[in-house]
Amino acid sequence: MHYISTRGGMPPKRFSEILLGGLAPDGGLVVPDEYPRLSADDLNALAGLSYTDLAFAIISRFVDDIPPADLKALIDKTYTVEAFGNADITPVTRLEDDLFIQQLSNGPTLAFKDMAMQLLGNLFEYVLTRAGEQINIVGATSGDTGSAAEYAMRGKKGVNVFMLSPFGKMSAFQRAQMFSLQDENIFNISVKSMFDACQDMVKALNNDADFKRQYKIGAVNSINWGRIVAQVVYYFKGYFAVAEQVGEPVDFCVPSGNFGNICAAHVARQMGLPIRRLIVATNENDVLDEFFKTGGYHPRGLDLTYETSSPSMDISKASNLERFVFDLTGRDGAKLAALWHTVEKEKGFDLEAADFARLRDEFGFRSEKSTHADRIANIREVFSKYGVQVDPHTADGYHAAKAHREAGVKVVIMETALPAKFESTMVEALNQKPVPPAGLADLEQLPQRFDVMEADAEALKRYVAERVA
Ligand SMILES: *Cc1c(COP(=O)(O)O)cnc(C)c1O
Repeated sequence: MHYISTRGGMPPKRFSEILLGGLAPDGGLVVPDEYPRLSADDLNALAGLSYTDLAFAIISRFVDDIPPADLKALIDKTYTVEAFGNADITPVTRLEDDLFIQQLSNGPTLAFKDMAMQLLGNLFEYVLTRAGEQINIVGATSGDTGSAAEYAMRGKKGVNVFMLSPFGKMSAFQRAQMFSLQDENIFNISVKSMFDACQDMVKALNNDADFKRQYKIGAVNSINWGRIVAQVVYYFKGYFAVAEQVGEPVDFCVPSGNFGNICAAHVARQMGLPIRRLIVATNENDVLDEFFKTGGYHPRGLDLTYETSSPSMDISKASNLERFVFDLTGRDGAKLAALWHTVEKEKGFDLEAADFARLRDEFGFRSEKSTHADRIANIREVFSKYGVQVDPHTADGYHAAKAHREAGVKVVIMETALPAKFESTMVEALNQKPVPPAGLADLEQLPQRFDVMEADAEALKRYVAERVA
């Protein structure tokens, strides 16, 4: 298995060589040169496996430069009852006959990002130790991603994390989650400004090539291929949990922002998992809904990105979409580079009619958007009909699943976070506070460790330089 760039400008590389990197050198995204294909026999052999055995069977097809015994040990160490609360790892709840929710949020930060990030932490440590190297991850977060990265990398050899967040802008729960970490390799920096200013500081540091090289600056953003691979596993797990027999077509519905989660579903489908439809759910930031309904991809600026009550989907430029469009348009690097030139330099593109038809017919995509009012009504509906509390993002998934359900076909909605993370919206919908998972009730009482900084990129560089040997 080798990895190439969607824009055709990277010599083939192995998994360990692309794991720590971000974009390919030509600005494209890293993808496998071809997807492993599973036969019906292969699928039948996977159907009864435990989460860790299934994860090894899938991931080892994408990773051939880590000895199998080592890879298995890393997977076993990641997906444990201690970290994910139960042996199933991603249990499936039946709402009614053909409607299911797959729980992806039982990890340490209560959002699906833990599913990939926890494995990434162990893979990073393994690859860095083997090479005798070090990496300093510098990132900005408004909540979910930063905490998932910190809980994945805490205490890992060879890795430091410097995470910027806007002072006073996160929820008390999110703040407590990040700032209560006492590990020596985790640095929380609270910036006296907004999230955008945090992002600009990270960008400025990355634009300083000498600094970046000298201090081995890296990232764990949503375009990391390792994250996608780890996410592919739970689509297989969910499929086997609901399908009566291998071969039965099943729909999956995914609350989407950067298109990372559902990109993994697309990969699973390309590998031969019998997924019928892939339903993309968005909130008021509906750039993806527009794309899947019209074939036009027209990313928007920050001025047209709205703050909503499903905040982790407040994205107007879906970085991982490039991977899907690469497959859709025939895996032609030059064609893809031209399309993404319009994304970077102009106002985006409209698919050719034939490609748009394939997007629906051959690749099975559908989409739907939700508003705040839909979200509140759906949280109420799921609770009153089924007695289940879903978070605002998962409620957007429920909305889209209802819009595209067809009689006799099972739909699995991917749960992307737990209600406890989004207290005010849950209270608005249900008039009661969500119950935090066991062990986290006292989180906000723990001592917190963080440094305050002005929005100044030079101050950030000094801070990192002083703490990196
Ligand atoms: C990150 C996130 C999403 C969006 O996932 P993508 O992979 O970016 O599409 C949805 N819901 C929650 C709760 C998230 O944290």
